[in-house]
Amino acid sequence: MILDDSAADGGGLDGSGQADKGYVIRGGRTFNFTYDCTYDLLSSIPSLNGDHVSVYDEILAFNKEYEPHFGTRLIGNKRRMIDASFMPLSDDDLSSLENLLATTESLLDGKSIKDWFSLSFFKSNFWYLWASTFAFTPSHSLAEFRRYLLRLVHVLPYINKLAGVDRTPFNHHDSIALPLIDWLRTKGVLFITGAEVFDLDIDNDGNNLSVQRIRLMKDGEPECLSVAPGDLVFITIGSTTRGSALGSMNEPPLLTPTRHGPWALWEKLAARSATFGRPLNFSSRTDESKYISFTVTCNNPFFFDWMKEFTGAKAGKGGPVTFGNSSWLLSVDMLHQPYFRNQPANVGVFWGYGLFPDKPGNFVNKTMSKCSGAEILTELFSHLELTSELPGMLNTSICIPCTMPYISSPFLTRSKGDRPSVVPAGTVNLALLGQYSEIDDDLAFTIEYSVHGAMIAVYKLLGFNRTRPV
Ligand SMILES: Cc1cc2nc3c(=O)[nH]c(=O)nc-3n(C[C@H](O)[C@H](O)[C@H](O)COP(=O)(O)OP(=O)(O)OC[C@H]3O[C@@H](n4cnc5c(N)ncnc54)[C@H](O)[C@@H]3O)c2cc1C
Repeated sequence: MILDDSAADGGGLDGSGQADKGYVIRGGRTFNFTYDCTYDLLSSIPSLNGDHVSVYDEILAFNKEYEPHFGTRLIGNKRRMIDASFMPLSDDDLSSLENLLATTESLLDGKSIKDWFSLSFFKSNFWYLWASTFAFTPSHSLAEFRRYLLRLVHVLPYINKLAGVDRTPFNHHDSIALPLIDWLRTKGVLFITGAEVFDLDIDNDGNNLSVQRIRLMKDGEPECLSVAPGDLVFITIGSTTRGSALGSMNEPPLLTPTRHGPWALWEKLAARSATFGRPLNFSSRTDESKYISFTVTCNNPFFFDWMKEFTGAKAGKGGPVTFGNSSWLLSVDMLHQPYFRNQPANVGVFWGYGLFPDKPGNFVNKTMSKCSGAEILTELFSHLELTSELPGMLNTSICIPCTMPYISSPFLTRSKGDRPSVVPAGTVNLALLGQYSEIDDDLAFTIEYSVHGAMIAVYKLLGFNRTRPV
């Protein structure tokens, strides 16, 4: 049984909308061949295409067809294209990078990236591409930055065209969440939506902690589920998308950093025992963890044609294009089309984001947080010197901004003990899943992290002598 307090299924793997009202994805995601757990899982899930292939096979075939093509990924002042295949770093910055890779993680407790590097590092092509691809900012965790460098070193030589990453044929709700949910239903899994788990009754006999009851709110009424011997309880602690809110062409999204659900439940557990970690480290610093994304539905091919000509890459074949000079650090990702199963052929959808939403724009005299969809498009078109084409774009497209207060919270600086173990010491029937439990050497803020954590939980609680697939 899966209890979920959202009305929709798929959690953070969202993707919804229609051509006349506008589509929304909160995140554009990339995968890569190091996602051993995710790909292992998806290789046993049938695709929805009805052609007897797995979701994994479908992803492989798609990425063969959509092999990345060289295109401009970094834009400077006055839409100057920067050759980002050239990523010079000063001798000092290079030696800081080498030292970081050679340092053990335990010595990086509590440190941020800006504690380690000089200011010049944050003006380098390398930083712009790395930061905009993975959503790092200088105040984020040095330990996490090091993990990304070590794991994704294969992406480095090609990051200017974003080769070495995998995409899915459609958005992640259509390509991943839906086939998974379908498959789980055929196996008899019951999905109960609109049910918020607000507490667990846990017995502590001095040696073992065991969950006895699950307390939830359903349709405004409290309910209690007993946990029978042999039952296992898996909860998601924390959330990157909780409190996210949408704006419109005319209204900015409102920042609503609510902590009910996954944050509140984690806080309750942590108040009882240090074994459950320190959620407030991740939930109380929204100034460092928020950013804004936007999805644009175009009823006119102009922008897709123009970007193809300008960057040299057809939509879906280049990586996100980043404006290095933008005070918001604006990026746009021209996705392959169609990106939604229900998307008409004459409609195009692209996605973008800004990592510094509290800074005023270079052209629109407002912070990104205060901008409507039309104002975000105005900033984008001004960077590209397309001001005479702007009215046409505003008349034929729908830009929906989305604010996410906790989005990069898995990247916040952390110290030992902030993240609990997937199966905390002493617990016999409870596992903590998601982005905030500690998994040695894996990368937070990825689907892989969630799937890997779930595998650890199942193997450990069921006593399987297995490790992650490789
Ligand atoms: C903008 C953005 C960009 C991203 N980019 C990438 C990327 O490039 N590559 C990548 O691999 N990953 C990326 N991710 C991350 C990836 O999407 C998430 O890590 C993943 O979806 C998390 O899955 P999860 O099941 O652990 O948690 P969630 O998706 O948060 O699902 C948990 C579900 O449980 C429910 N829930 C939680 N607590 C409770 C409770 N107490 N009571 C009831 N219901 C509850 C929630 O409502 C939710 O539906 C990105 C995510 C976003 C949002």
